[in-house]
Amino acid sequence: MSHQGFSETKKFGLYINGDWVYNSRQNDFESMNPATEERVGTCPGASPHEVNQAVDSAVQAFKTWKNTPLPERAHYLWQAAALFEERKVEIATMMTCEMGKVLAESLGEVGVVIETCKYMAGEGRRLFGETVASGAPDRQIMMIREPVGVVACITPWNFPVAMGGYKILAALVSGNTVVWKPASEVAISAQLFTDVFHEVGLPNGVLNLITGSGRKVGAQLAEHKDISVISFTGSTEVGIKLSETASKSLKRVSLELGGKNAVIVLKDANLDAAAEAIVKSAFTTTGQRCTAASRVIVESDIHDELLQKVVRKAKELRVGNGLEEGVDIGPLVNKQQLETTEKYVEIALREGAELECGGKRAATEKGYFFEPTILSKVKKDHRAAQEEIFGPVLAFIEAESFEEAIDINNSTEYGLSSSLFTSSLHYANRGAREIESGLVYINNGTSNAEIGVAFGGTKSSGNGHREVSHHVFDIMTEWKSVYINY
Ligand code: NAD
Repeated sequence: MSHQGFSETKKFGLYINGDWVYNSRQNDFESMNPATEERVGTCPGASPHEVNQAVDSAVQAFKTWKNTPLPERAHYLWQAAALFEERKVEIATMMTCEMGKVLAESLGEVGVVIETCKYMAGEGRRLFGETVASGAPDRQIMMIREPVGVVACITPWNFPVAMGGYKILAALVSGNTVVWKPASEVAISAQLFTDVFHEVGLPNGVLNLITGSGRKVGAQLAEHKDISVISFTGSTEVGIKLSETASKSLKRVSLELGGKNAVIVLKDANLDAAAEAIVKSAFTTTGQRCTAASRVIVESDIHDELLQKVVRKAKELRVGNGLEEGVDIGPLVNKQQLETTEKYVEIALREGAELECGGKRAATEKGYFFEPTILSKVKKDHRAAQEEIFGPVLAFIEAESFEEAIDINNSTEYGLSSSLFTSSLHYANRGAREIESGLVYINNGTSNAEIGVAFGGTKSSGNGHREVSHHVFDIMTEWKSVYINY
């Protein structure tokens, strides 16, 4: 079977010490297309021995990679950027086949990787140290940043290559070596990403790829004694487990976790702009973004008008196979995610919510499609207002004032992304201060992160580390203070 440029005749498999390793065996798993329910390909589940081999190869490679001049390390990223550009359609098509997002989004995601390569290649060269005035005569003191060692990158399926890119590119440019464990749903997309670095001739062992189950392969990797940093993006539940793992041996751990993001709309806002941003934030990637808006908190005076506008726009969205022209929303990633979405709609209706549109599977013969769904009369303590659904479900919640809207926004365990629509400078500034989230947008949706700006959440959305800005080097490097008496 070939998927527009990807041929199964090229077996990638695991990538260990610069070689593709594929020994077909029992823990192989299938990558399935959620739009067609057809098999995309078969991937190897790494054995415990192979996990150890991957870490060993990264340990060996670290010895020379950490001393490779920074401009040379950065050069691999520039070369990779050019090759990602050439292979953009191939990689994007595979992502759409594996996890369902529409092709335009997949192309955009490869674009994010290209930009991250360029950003990190440049920013990496600015890993400056400091000099400090000494209290003693004839003494020079400097503080320098050094790479930490082997980084375990563990990533989710919703951004198959961008999440890998956020971590891997920062780790590599700052002199660390990497073992990457992507989500099984998107294992072939991860292979294609890795193949780009194989093609640009990254030295053996600097980047390794192992695929397989999170509970076995991911857990073994995270626990490995030679891993210095665990860089994880995924659910809060798994993030907490990894935090426990890290604490046993004082590994560094960076956690980018779930969200329950809200758009707050005040009565002085531009409602058309708000409605447009809400629909985009809620339903792009079928609601399967960590920053997807799943709540609209709206002042009562304008509730009905805004709701009508949003429902009208949501009903115009076309659900279908993301490879087809004109499709706005692809399927959910798998059957389990479809059933979870369905379950949450049922729960919300039982709790007293009203269905404004959607609420059911789309009428297709195959595939895990669910209609864009809007619920009204949701209360702040309802489960649909508190728990991450990770599907195309949006809950409208009424508030009587700015203060109540902020209180509702801050009432969940999460703190990833929030936006506020208002024409008041006063409320815009107060919102920026009072919203408890790592990302705050004023008069914009919840999902417009830019490269170069610290990305990450507060509360249960993360542990304080940030990616895609120079702050990522706080986890990827450590300080060494050098005292020189002369
Ligand atoms: P997940 O937590 O189930 O899996 C993420 C990764 O962890 C996968 O590679 C998985 O195989 C691995 N894993 C699972 N159990 C493990 C274990 N015990 N030990 C080690 N590794 C293990 O998440 P998912 O379903 O792939 O992704 C969806 C979640 O990711 C959502 O909660 C979403 O909000 C979150 N997410 C967060 C961000 C962010 O930047 N904050 C970005 C994207 C996704």
